[in-house]
Amino acid sequence: EGLSDLLLSRVRDVPDHPKPGIVFKDITPLLADPEAFGALTEALAATARELGATKVVGLEARGFILGAPVALAAGAGFVPVRKAGKLPGATLSQSYDLEYGSAEIEIHAEDLADDDRVLIVDDVLATGGTAEAAIGLVRRTKATLVGLAVLMELGFLPGGERVRLALGEVPYQALVTV
Ligand code: IMP
Repeated sequence: EGLSDLLLSRVRDVPDHPKPGIVFKDITPLLADPEAFGALTEALAATARELGATKVVGLEARGFILGAPVALAAGAGFVPVRKAGKLPGATLSQSYDLEYGSAEIEIHAEDLADDDRVLIVDDVLATGGTAEAAIGLVRRTKATLVGLAVLMELGFLPGGERVRLALGEVPYQALVTV
Protein backbone atom coordinates (compact mmCIF):
# COMPACT_ATOMS: atom_id res chain seq x y z
CA GLU A 1 0.00 0.00 0.00
CA GLY A 2 1.28 3.49 -0.91
CA LEU A 3 1.17 5.22 2.47
CA SER A 4 2.86 2.50 4.51
CA ASP A 5 5.58 2.08 1.84
CA LEU A 6 6.25 5.82 1.87
CA LEU A 7 6.41 5.94 5.67
CA LEU A 8 8.55 2.81 5.93
CA SER A 9 10.99 4.15 3.34
CA ARG A 10 11.65 7.20 5.53
CA VAL A 11 12.36 5.31 8.79
CA ARG A 12 16.02 4.51 9.35
CA ASP A 13 17.29 1.43 11.15
CA VAL A 14 20.09 2.27 13.58
CA PRO A 15 21.82 -0.89 14.83
CA ASP A 16 23.02 -1.09 18.44
CA HIS A 17 21.17 2.03 19.63
CA PRO A 18 20.68 2.86 22.47
CA LYS A 19 22.46 -0.38 23.41
CA PRO A 20 24.06 -3.37 21.69
CA GLY A 21 21.59 -5.74 20.02
CA ILE A 22 18.78 -3.19 19.67
CA VAL A 23 17.87 -1.93 16.20
CA PHE A 24 16.44 1.53 16.79
CA LYS A 25 13.76 2.84 14.43
CA ASP A 26 14.78 6.44 13.75
CA ILE A 27 11.92 8.58 12.45
CA THR A 28 13.97 11.76 11.93
CA PRO A 29 14.33 11.20 8.13
CA LEU A 30 10.52 10.98 7.94
CA LEU A 31 10.13 14.22 9.90
CA ALA A 32 12.63 15.92 7.59
CA ASP A 33 10.59 15.00 4.49
CA PRO A 34 7.53 17.28 4.22
CA GLU A 35 5.71 14.87 1.89
CA ALA A 36 6.05 11.91 4.28
CA PHE A 37 5.51 13.99 7.43
CA GLY A 38 2.43 15.54 5.83
CA ALA A 39 1.04 12.16 4.76
CA LEU A 40 1.61 10.77 8.26
CA THR A 41 -0.07 13.79 9.86
CA GLU A 42 -3.04 13.55 7.50
CA ALA A 43 -3.47 9.79 8.12
CA LEU A 44 -3.47 10.20 11.90
CA ALA A 45 -5.73 13.27 11.66
CA ALA A 46 -8.21 11.24 9.58
CA THR A 47 -8.28 8.68 12.41
CA ALA A 48 -8.80 11.44 14.97
CA ARG A 49 -11.71 12.86 12.93
CA GLU A 50 -13.30 9.42 12.42
CA LEU A 51 -13.19 8.81 16.15
CA GLY A 52 -14.55 12.25 16.94
CA ALA A 53 -11.48 13.07 19.04
CA THR A 54 -11.52 16.46 20.76
CA LYS A 55 -8.07 16.00 22.34
CA VAL A 56 -4.90 14.34 21.12
CA VAL A 57 -2.69 13.07 23.93
CA GLY A 58 0.95 12.81 22.79
CA LEU A 59 3.60 10.79 24.61
CA GLU A 60 6.99 12.39 25.33
CA ALA A 61 8.94 13.03 23.25
CA ARG A 62 8.23 11.94 19.66
CA GLY A 63 4.52 11.71 20.39
CA PHE A 64 4.66 15.50 20.81
CA ILE A 65 6.13 15.99 17.34
CA LEU A 66 3.43 13.83 15.74
CA GLY A 67 0.55 14.68 18.05
CA ALA A 68 0.62 18.47 17.82
CA PRO A 69 0.10 18.78 14.03
CA VAL A 70 -2.39 15.91 14.14
CA ALA A 71 -4.41 17.72 16.80
CA LEU A 72 -4.54 20.97 14.81
CA ALA A 73 -5.35 19.21 11.53
CA ALA A 74 -8.24 17.40 13.24
CA GLY A 75 -9.54 20.48 15.04
CA ALA A 76 -8.62 19.00 18.43
CA GLY A 77 -6.56 20.25 21.35
CA PHE A 78 -3.19 18.79 22.36
CA VAL A 79 -2.34 17.43 25.82
CA PRO A 80 1.15 16.15 26.64
CA VAL A 81 1.96 13.06 28.70
CA ARG A 82 5.37 13.73 30.19
CA LYS A 83 7.99 11.88 32.16
CA ALA A 84 7.60 12.40 35.90
CA GLY A 85 8.57 15.77 37.36
CA LYS A 86 8.20 17.91 34.23
CA LEU A 87 4.60 19.12 34.37
CA PRO A 88 4.19 22.10 36.72
CA GLY A 89 0.53 21.73 37.67
CA ALA A 90 -1.49 19.11 39.52
CA THR A 91 -0.83 15.78 37.85
CA LEU A 92 -2.06 12.24 37.74
CA SER A 93 0.87 9.84 37.53
CA GLN A 94 1.30 6.25 36.52
CA SER A 95 4.35 4.09 36.93
CA TYR A 96 5.14 1.08 34.78
CA ASP A 97 7.80 -1.58 34.55
CA LEU A 98 10.72 -1.44 32.16
CA GLU A 99 13.06 -4.30 31.29
CA TYR A 100 15.32 -3.01 34.06
CA GLY A 101 13.60 -0.85 36.65
CA SER A 102 10.54 1.32 36.19
CA ALA A 103 9.37 4.62 34.73
CA GLU A 104 6.65 7.11 35.58
CA ILE A 105 4.54 9.33 33.33
CA GLU A 106 2.22 12.21 34.19
CA ILE A 107 -0.64 14.28 32.78
CA HIS A 108 -2.43 17.49 33.72
CA ALA A 109 -5.85 15.94 34.35
CA GLU A 110 -7.54 19.35 34.36
CA ASP A 111 -6.80 19.71 30.63
CA LEU A 112 -9.18 16.82 29.91
CA ALA A 113 -12.86 17.61 30.54
CA ASP A 114 -15.69 15.13 31.01
CA ASP A 115 -16.94 15.72 27.45
CA ASP A 116 -13.50 15.25 25.87
CA ARG A 117 -12.81 12.32 23.55
CA VAL A 118 -9.14 11.34 23.62
CA LEU A 119 -6.91 9.81 20.96
CA ILE A 120 -3.46 8.79 22.25
CA VAL A 121 -0.65 9.18 19.68
CA ASP A 122 2.94 7.95 19.72
CA ASP A 123 5.62 7.08 17.17
CA VAL A 124 6.71 3.52 17.96
CA LEU A 125 4.99 0.75 19.91
CA ALA A 126 7.61 -1.69 21.21
CA THR A 127 6.70 -3.65 24.38
CA GLY A 128 3.53 -1.58 24.73
CA GLY A 129 4.39 -0.62 28.30
CA THR A 130 4.40 3.12 27.68
CA ALA A 131 1.12 3.07 25.75
CA GLU A 132 -0.51 0.83 28.36
CA ALA A 133 0.48 3.27 31.11
CA ALA A 134 -0.89 6.18 29.06
CA ILE A 135 -4.16 4.29 28.55
CA GLY A 136 -4.38 3.89 32.33
CA LEU A 137 -3.68 7.59 32.89
CA VAL A 138 -6.32 8.81 30.44
CA ARG A 139 -8.87 6.41 31.92
CA ARG A 140 -8.30 7.97 35.35
CA THR A 141 -9.35 11.38 33.98
CA LYS A 142 -12.95 12.48 33.36
CA ALA A 143 -12.52 12.18 29.60
CA THR A 144 -13.35 9.23 27.32
CA LEU A 145 -10.55 7.29 25.64
CA VAL A 146 -11.56 6.72 22.00
CA GLY A 147 -8.37 5.35 20.43
CA LEU A 148 -4.64 4.69 20.31
CA ALA A 149 -2.73 5.36 17.09
CA VAL A 150 0.96 4.87 16.37
CA LEU A 151 3.13 5.29 13.33
CA MET A 152 4.89 1.95 13.76
CA GLU A 153 4.43 -1.27 15.69
CA LEU A 154 7.36 -3.62 16.22
CA GLY A 155 5.49 -6.81 15.36
CA PHE A 156 8.15 -9.13 16.75
CA LEU A 157 7.29 -7.88 20.25
CA PRO A 158 3.96 -8.57 22.00
CA GLY A 159 3.12 -4.86 22.33
CA GLY A 160 0.17 -4.96 19.91
CA GLU A 161 -1.47 -7.78 21.81
CA ARG A 162 -0.80 -6.06 25.12
CA VAL A 163 -2.42 -2.77 24.13
CA ARG A 164 -5.38 -4.50 22.46
CA LEU A 165 -6.00 -6.31 25.74
CA ALA A 166 -5.79 -3.04 27.68
CA LEU A 167 -8.00 -1.18 25.18
CA GLY A 168 -10.80 -3.75 24.92
CA GLU A 169 -13.39 -2.32 22.51
CA VAL A 170 -11.43 0.92 21.98
CA PRO A 171 -9.74 0.95 18.54
CA TYR A 172 -5.99 0.60 18.00
CA GLN A 173 -4.22 1.59 14.80
CA ALA A 174 -0.62 1.05 13.71
CA LEU A 175 -0.01 2.62 10.27
CA VAL A 176 3.00 0.34 9.72
CA THR A 177 3.95 -2.97 11.34
CA VAL A 178 7.50 -4.25 10.95
P1 IMP B 1 7.49 0.52 24.78
O1 IMP B 1 6.99 1.13 26.04
O2 IMP B 1 8.43 -0.60 24.98
O3 IMP B 1 6.34 0.15 23.83
O4 IMP B 1 8.35 1.61 24.04
C1 IMP B 1 7.70 2.63 23.38
C2 IMP B 1 8.32 3.96 23.70
O5 IMP B 1 9.72 3.93 23.52
C3 IMP B 1 7.75 4.99 22.74
O6 IMP B 1 7.50 6.21 23.43
C4 IMP B 1 8.81 5.13 21.69
O7 IMP B 1 9.00 6.48 21.32
C5 IMP B 1 10.07 4.58 22.32
N1 IMP B 1 10.73 3.58 21.45
C6 IMP B 1 10.95 2.28 21.67
N2 IMP B 1 11.60 1.70 20.67
C7 IMP B 1 11.79 2.66 19.77
C8 IMP B 1 12.42 2.70 18.47
O8 IMP B 1 12.95 1.71 17.92
N3 IMP B 1 12.40 3.90 17.83
C9 IMP B 1 11.83 4.99 18.37
N4 IMP B 1 11.27 5.00 19.56
C10 IMP B 1 11.24 3.85 20.25
